Amino acid sequence: MTERFRNFINGKWVESRTGRWFEDKNPANTGDVIGEFPKSDAADVDTAVQAAKAALPGWSRTPGPKRGELLFRLGRVMEERKEDLARTLTRENGKILDEGRGDVQEAIDTAYYAGGEGRRLFGITTPSELGDKWAMTVRQPVGVCGLISPWNFPIAIPTWKMFPALISGCTVILKPASDTPLCAVKLAQVCEAAGIPPGVVNVVHGGGAEAGTALARHKDVRLISFTGSSAVGRELASICGQDLKRCSLELGGKNAQIVMDDADMDLALKGALWGAFATAGQRCTATSRLILHRAIKGAFLERLVEAARKLKIGDGLKAGTEMGPLINEARRTEVASYVEIGKGEGARLVSGGAAHKAGECARGYFFEPTIFDGVTPAMRIFREEIFGPVLSVVTVGDLDEAIATMNDSSYGLSSSIYTKDVRAAFQAMERIECGIVYVNGPTIGAESHLPFGGMKDTGNGHREASHTVYDVYNEWKTIYVDYSGRLQRAQIDNQPA
Ligand code: NAD
Repeated sequence: MTERFRNFINGKWVESRTGRWFEDKNPANTGDVIGEFPKSDAADVDTAVQAAKAALPGWSRTPGPKRGELLFRLGRVMEERKEDLARTLTRENGKILDEGRGDVQEAIDTAYYAGGEGRRLFGITTPSELGDKWAMTVRQPVGVCGLISPWNFPIAIPTWKMFPALISGCTVILKPASDTPLCAVKLAQVCEAAGIPPGVVNVVHGGGAEAGTALARHKDVRLISFTGSSAVGRELASICGQDLKRCSLELGGKNAQIVMDDADMDLALKGALWGAFATAGQRCTATSRLILHRAIKGAFLERLVEAARKLKIGDGLKAGTEMGPLINEARRTEVASYVEIGKGEGARLVSGGAAHKAGECARGYFFEPTIFDGVTPAMRIFREEIFGPVLSVVTVGDLDEAIATMNDSSYGLSSSIYTKDVRAAFQAMERIECGIVYVNGPTIGAESHLPFGGMKDTGNGHREASHTVYDVYNEWKTIYVDYSGRLQRAQIDNQPA
């Protein structure tokens, strides 16, 4: 009998009122049914929002350092459960176990960073322009927050949102992706074990269109933090706009790696392989365009194709596997359709291009590492996010052309340049239109204490992680204290003679 899981609301595990369920399967082996999860609706979301609203006064008035102690405890519980969390993640998401462990470690790092912030939610004091007057700022929590997360980092991304929200004094409702609901259940169990008070963290499962939209539309939710596709991000931004709700969006990418003619070719090769095919290319920061200097292109591409063909595809839980499956059949169909689009546009398929169904892989959603050569900026495979193991190779003649090609994108998340020329590196750092630039490293590998996010259509200007995320979950309050005993009128009393 398939195990059934529930929503986590007000510290209790509760069934959805709808009585409807959805199935969650292992993408590496669809015969392995992980469980059934509630298909929640607006009424379930409302119950969770009311719980979060009721918990808000107590939590927001808990001193920051005390909230910090609970965040440290969250980190410790996750450390104790790291292996179980990582294995669950790999079984549910498909990424290889090493990457699963990395995903969980990112959450642990985020917990400790946020815990420390409990003693560092700094405001400023500054001189007033008037005498006998004090001026300062303090932070206050935004309120009840709705967190909507994708399946590709099913532990890290929810915690990137949840932990900064919690330390800021907000209460939250998480609506996880329906491809990875068990990771969210495990995260709620971690919160329970760490002693997070009832109602402070709530998890409501269900489809995006039903539960996700209901969360965004709810009048008592003051903020939506969303990571996912640009199409859904636009929709949520317009819903939030109606109610002047705060909305933080982390969306898609079409990230590129440049390899200049003076680069360390072995290093650049490892970077391209890892950047393009880790997580089977299903990272928002995945390398999906490779911009090669003409002088090295032939030899570099030959070696890359050879290495891609050797990648060991399979179940991420098995030792030695280098690339897991895609998340579901819909994603595989879409990736396959982009291969046809690329061929139709005249790009040259030099590796992969088809579903991988050898042996045990027939049971999952595997796809071959795929490389197209002869790609031009006009092609859809150059412009559109594919979110799979498909790499588009473009050839350029110099640094200016490389940077212009990199910037010829509606997205601006991550980027990379391999060069030994310090001048070229600094030119690239200055001129690349992306939120993240790696020099001599691949486009993937964000650290939790540095700002994460992108320019252009990748988001709406916010950054997750690091100190910058705290501006998402806090309101600034400016306080003036006049101890002059008389009416002082700022600029009116303060004009040059
Ligand atoms: P998605 O937009 O389909 O879903 C993301 C989340 O939104 C899920 O929880 C889903 O249930 C929910 N959702 C879907 N439709 C909704 C709606 N109408 N209203 C409210 N919620 C809705 O994206 P996905 O397929 O889960 O993830 C892949 C996308 O996410 C890619 O475009 C990728 O680039 C992006 N992504 C971005 C980042 C980043 O930080 N920039 C990180 C990871 C993934």
